[in-house]
Amino acid sequence: MTNNVLAVAELKAGRVAGVSKEVATAARTLADGLGGSATAVATGTPGTAAEAGVEVLAAHGTERVLVLESEALAPGCAGVHAAALADLVADEGYGAVVFPATGTGKDLAPRVAAKLKRPLLTDATALEAVDGEIVATRPVYAGKALAKVRPVGAPALVSIRPNVFAPGSFGGTASVEVVAVERAAGADGGYRVQGFEAAEGVALDVSEAAIVVSGGRGMKGPENWGLLEDLRDALGDTAALGASRAVVDAGWRPHAEQVGQTGKTVTPKLYFALGISGAIQHLAGMRTAGVVVAVNRDPDAPIFGVADYGIVGDVFEVVPALIDAVRSLREE
Ligand code: FAD
Repeated sequence: MTNNVLAVAELKAGRVAGVSKEVATAARTLADGLGGSATAVATGTPGTAAEAGVEVLAAHGTERVLVLESEALAPGCAGVHAAALADLVADEGYGAVVFPATGTGKDLAPRVAAKLKRPLLTDATALEAVDGEIVATRPVYAGKALAKVRPVGAPALVSIRPNVFAPGSFGGTASVEVVAVERAAGADGGYRVQGFEAAEGVALDVSEAAIVVSGGRGMKGPENWGLLEDLRDALGDTAALGASRAVVDAGWRPHAEQVGQTGKTVTPKLYFALGISGAIQHLAGMRTAGVVVAVNRDPDAPIFGVADYGIVGDVFEVVPALIDAVRSLREE
């Protein structure tokens, strides 16, 4: 085994997904600490290398960019992708492999770990080399405590939480190496994915938005979400709606908008928590946001403990005032 680190890139609709830049940066930082080099790998059908834009990963830290191509490597067939990746890791002997802890990554990484008979450290929020050893930081007890874990043996397999590792700019370039994969064609994925459909009416996923307008039970009912939509629209097209679990469980909003331990982790520049109490499970999904603005009529609501700006008041009075203020600022 070497000190080299492999970054497993994710593709979305055939293009390199934003989270892949975070994985490349995390791999590069770890490789620097270990004294090795960083390689990015993507997997897909023939033509992927030409279309996916994976060369951008070199600018985000990986010295080498590989694309494994095969007719069998269709999107969604995690078992086949895992077989190709496990073969690559075994053949090239990496010291560590970094995956994104996205929905796709959560499907893929455990399969690779099982094939390599190695443990997987999931959902790391920090990854570093200390005295030549890998140390991953993982939130436990819904983010109440952080565990520092040193994997024993190699390769260390780690998935990183999206939106936590800021993509670095390393200015590197790399030509993309295309590897035609033979064996993956015979690997049985166990199922075939027929296609993908975008969820209706969702312009921007909450986990990818720069601004999140989240509503909780204090919004009283789904009929009041027009107010939050107005605030989102006033803030522009980098804003998306989020929700607490109470709201999702009540059927007011779709699960895709849920922020928290059993929802999505978001790291927007600006997070509005409107009528949300700030339960530990909600904080687990948004405590890494840049600036947090909370509106709650209870001055003792725990959300104020993580808020940069706290407004004690009624959402039905404060949010319309916020919308007016944002609109007039944007008109200036
Ligand atoms: P409440 O806790 O009921 O808070 C409503 C808030 O609105 C109160 O603070 C109240 O003062 C305020 N309010 C009421 N009226 C107004 C008004 N007119 N103006 C201003 N403020 C007002 N929760 C998540 O969010 N995400 C998760 O992923 C998640 N995962 C969980 C996993 C597990 C295993 C468990 C056990 C729980 C999980 N929860 C999660 C649930 C969590 O514990 C809370 O129950 C939930 O976050 C509460 O949602 P809420 O803040 O909207 O509602």
